Amino acid sequence: MNDNKTTFSASEWLRYTRHIQLPEVGAAGQLKLKQAHILVIGAGGLGSPVALYLAAAGVGHLTLVDGDVVDTSNLQRQIIFEHDQVGQSKTTAARARLLRLNPEICVDAVETFLTPDNAGELVATADLVVDCTDNFSARYLINDHCCARGKPWVFASIQKFFGQCALFAPGGACFRCLFPEAPANVEDCNSAGVIGVLPGLLGVLQANEAIKYLLGLPTPLQNNLLLVDALHLEFRSIQLTRSDDCAACNNPASAPELPRQTAPLCAADRGKHSVLSPAEFRERFRAGDCVLLDVRGPAERQAFHIGGRHIPLDELPQRLAELEGEETVLCYCQSGVRSGKAVALLQQQGLNGVSLDGGLLAWLRCSRESLENN
Ligand SMILES: [Zn+2]
Repeated sequence: MNDNKTTFSASEWLRYTRHIQLPEVGAAGQLKLKQAHILVIGAGGLGSPVALYLAAAGVGHLTLVDGDVVDTSNLQRQIIFEHDQVGQSKTTAARARLLRLNPEICVDAVETFLTPDNAGELVATADLVVDCTDNFSARYLINDHCCARGKPWVFASIQKFFGQCALFAPGGACFRCLFPEAPANVEDCNSAGVIGVLPGLLGVLQANEAIKYLLGLPTPLQNNLLLVDALHLEFRSIQLTRSDDCAACNNPASAPELPRQTAPLCAADRGKHSVLSPAEFRERFRAGDCVLLDVRGPAERQAFHIGGRHIPLDELPQRLAELEGEETVLCYCQSGVRSGKAVALLQQQGLNGVSLDGGLLAWLRCSRESLENN
């Protein structure tokens, strides 16, 4: 690795030849990339292509932030990982892959989720931030700290066959101008599903915008939200305007103190409801005086279940009477998000509910058996 940030080694020159040949990049542009530090928050479906392309492009310093470990269910879309890395820290596994791709760059692995305590320090050191998370809490944190420090960031979200992407930069509209509050009933891709190539498509767009921003090239996604429909292969964009009412971009000094306006981070979400680990859930079931309840959709139910009754979450408010008289309702879904919402509904009605932490994905990691054969 050549530590000199103002020249290229012979191997770097060879590696980046196809960039340097482009008049829009050239040697000066490639040096800008070498001198840049990009913070990639989330090493999952979006983070995989973003980090791979930024590393290949020669961005000199990448910091990856993610507190999760590689899971078999990630491999359908998180292409930076390999089967034999299941169980390893995502950022450490990704760092190893990136340095095998390009040993000329520096990659930091931060094995933790983004939180209000660490966001400021992480954002402060970066030239640009790429949001590869899956939740609104993290995006508000990124937005507010980027507004406060005048840093650009590239947003993307994915669900099912649909994606969104935008670049937020100083002087333009920010994420809170677009979403002053988190929309209600947002499903993450853990509970809604996602076609495996979609994060590839959106992640490549994010990497492209990030690279062009650093090079000073046109970035049409600044002040525009791109909507991608991968099912019908349609791309639309809507213009974003800066809101006079938005405290984050109109008074950036106060931004990190803004109310979070939404649920905590996914990882911190556990514990908000009555949740049990798979082993505790099994023990509670065997103790009796309870009913098992699957709150997933009909197609998911038909494909696989571990027994119990079936009431989809969207029908639960109208069908709560069916559960009256039960001592405890043990709720489960795919990943624990919908069962957590079901428990909140039950508790509002004075019923006793608990949620399977991590859902069937967690259950199947430690058990292959059904609880009931019905
Ligand atoms: Zn704003």
